[in-house]
Amino acid sequence: MGRFVYADNSATTQVSDRVFESMLPYLKEEYGNASSLYKIGRDSSIAIEAARERVAKALGCEPREVYFTSCGSESDNWALKSTMERLGKKGKKHLITSAFEHHAILHTAQHLERLGYEVTYLPVDKDGLIDPQQVKEAIREDTALVSIMYANNEIGTIQPIAEIGAICKTAGVLFHTDAVQAIGNVPIDVRDQNIDMLSLSAHKIHGPKGIGALYVRKGVVLPNLIDGGAQERGHRAGTENVAYIVGLGQAIEDAVAGMGAKVEKLTRFRDQIIAELTKIPYTKLNGHPTKRLCTNVNISFEGVEGEALLLLLDSMGIAASSGSACTSGSLDPSHVLLSIGLRHEVAHGSLRLSLSDFNTQEDVDYIIECVPKVIERLRAMSPVWEDMMEAEKNK
Ligand code: PLP
Repeated sequence: MGRFVYADNSATTQVSDRVFESMLPYLKEEYGNASSLYKIGRDSSIAIEAARERVAKALGCEPREVYFTSCGSESDNWALKSTMERLGKKGKKHLITSAFEHHAILHTAQHLERLGYEVTYLPVDKDGLIDPQQVKEAIREDTALVSIMYANNEIGTIQPIAEIGAICKTAGVLFHTDAVQAIGNVPIDVRDQNIDMLSLSAHKIHGPKGIGALYVRKGVVLPNLIDGGAQERGHRAGTENVAYIVGLGQAIEDAVAGMGAKVEKLTRFRDQIIAELTKIPYTKLNGHPTKRLCTNVNISFEGVEGEALLLLLDSMGIAASSGSACTSGSLDPSHVLLSIGLRHEVAHGSLRLSLSDFNTQEDVDYIIECVPKVIERLRAMSPVWEDMMEAEKNK
């Protein structure tokens, strides 16, 4: 087996040993239905409530403000659709979000538009930052909700969430943030930051796929997502996925406990990769240079095609992702890279490397060794690059 470097941790992460061990009993011996009164049922219920406490502690809220869902996308859908439905009936049919949200928010907003709601998509600057003043100016009499992501999944830019939260509070408008990429990478306190609703997902923090949570501040009324039994206080019915809930609880506790050391190490790794790879001519760092996730590197290489770059890196044992949405069956460049002003062809040649605490200095060195070779090889074969160099000569 050759070298393997996993550098796509914003897509998903490997489940940690601690999380795996914590889940195992609930997949086998502890199989009771948490709604049942006998002991193995009660034990499941106790495990769920312990996990809820862990999530609450990580966010600075009360356990009863945490609802388990199946993923980050579900949390986003629930927050937006239910809030707009409830407040829309009171004449508040306006939603504010940004142009570079994850599709879990963007496609939900587009769905709401088709239903007759009005959506303002705030632009971001060249580094992917939203100016809180823009949020203030966009708020209207009929604004029900502002939803701005905490940190971007492609370029890692971290938004001024506390400032936006304060503006929404003063204006009396609800504030939701998609914190799927931020959890475990930045300190979060929903009270201090005036966050009314927050979405998170376990699989970005070494937890299992298919489990997430939505924080809903006490006092915020959120219509039910799934009607049925009394699970999640009647708001999201369905027999609980106990093992996965326990896994989320363990993952979030570990992520927050280890955050200081991890941020210190990964910031160093990130900056080493950025410093080395931006030495390659005709490259551009995407996202804010410092207000960015410690896990995120996103660089555009002119004259290079993203898919080819990923395939060659894969052949060298490096798993990464690119700026075009090839996975969705479309060759359109990512809306995030276009929103920060990249030309289509530059966005196409973008590479996202996303790190986790499992990465080592050897991984970083290997990335720094391989990427320049791959870029050189691809440019040598690229007619676009040849034309670019020709044009450069004739300048
Ligand atoms: N929001 C952001 C910012 C994400 O990065 C992702 C996943 O990539 C999601 C939402 C969706 O999360 P999930 O995969 O748990 O549905």
